[in-house]
Amino acid sequence: MAKKLDYATKRTNLKVYRNLLYDTFHRHDCFYCGRKLKSIEVDHFIPWSFVRNDKLWNLALACPKCNNSKRDSLSTRYYIEKILAQNDYIIEHSNNIDVVKREFKIYEPKKIYEMYECAIFNGFDYGWSPNATA
Ligand SMILES: [Zn+2]
Repeated sequence: MAKKLDYATKRTNLKVYRNLLYDTFHRHDCFYCGRKLKSIEVDHFIPWSFVRNDKLWNLALACPKCNNSKRDSLSTRYYIEKILAQNDYIIEHSNNIDVVKREFKIYEPKKIYEMYECAIFNGFDYGWSPNATA
């Protein structure tokens, strides 16, 4: 129970990440389907139910349709390259923003691959893409 409360408080700052990604790093299209974002949701690339935390390098902006349909699934591997490219962009354009420096302190691209494989190993659905579910 205490753990659940802890997770709940940790999830309240997603708005900060949303604004960072949208305003500072100009992510104005859905990470998955590419449509212009009208309503913005924050997606955990590696599902939150697996990683249990919010790290900027694991977050992408998505439209409600993609976010709701992806849920606790892993995307196709194609999107691994895309999240790595987004993270490269963030690192290049971070201009020493404190939040970014802090969030990326322990980031390594291979971590994304490892977490992806580990989540599959732990039974998470994978291979989700906006086209496959349309
Ligand atoms: Zn979408």
